[in-house]
Amino acid sequence: MKIFSLNRDKIQGIIFDIDLTLYDNRHYYDSQETLLIDRVACELQRNFEDVEQEIKVYRRKIQEETGNRPALGPSLCKLYGVTVAQISRWREEALNPEHYLNRDEELISTLEQLAKNYKIAAVTNNPTSIGRRTLEVLDVAGFFSDVVGIDVTGQSKPTIAPFDLVVEKFGCSHENVLSVGDRYEVDLHLPLQHGMSGILVENLEDVYRLPEVLMQ
Ligand SMILES: [Mg+2]
Repeated sequence: MKIFSLNRDKIQGIIFDIDLTLYDNRHYYDSQETLLIDRVACELQRNFEDVEQEIKVYRRKIQEETGNRPALGPSLCKLYGVTVAQISRWREEALNPEHYLNRDEELISTLEQLAKNYKIAAVTNNPTSIGRRTLEVLDVAGFFSDVVGIDVTGQSKPTIAPFDLVVEKFGCSHENVLSVGDRYEVDLHLPLQHGMSGILVENLEDVYRLPEVLMQ
């Protein structure tokens, strides 16, 4: 766990990332990328391996230039002009969190404790329906007042728009909200710049420790 900023006295709400933050299943996560690249290759009527390689080269180049590996969605927009709406629809059609994930007792207990003191929401670069189904299969959906997917604002993280929307729904200011996620650039960088608190989680154990860390 890396705490970048944490103003315990001011926190009223927590925004969680979902993928690889609230579950740890690389197989499912990797399948999301594979399914999406496969769909793009189909649309372009090109070979999967060629498209995959092209994307890999592009992401490596951007990482070398900026120090940050770009997410898949923005990479597809840049390389092939794929729109956020298309990505959202394709993900909705292809992804099946129910095939990979299960109820997580420790996560339930963690969120139960956090929900006593904080409003809780999720911001994901998946469509809202996939985000909700993911929370449902983990059996924690009831703790989340809002799930904001890319179909809601039409923008994928790392833009600040989905975070702004949740802060507004929480009815507080950015300084009253904590962002929790597994990728600094995607989940924390802009929220921190806008005055939010930010915690990078490196595994599920870090998430399970949040009540202790926040309420000490
Ligand atoms: Mg994530």
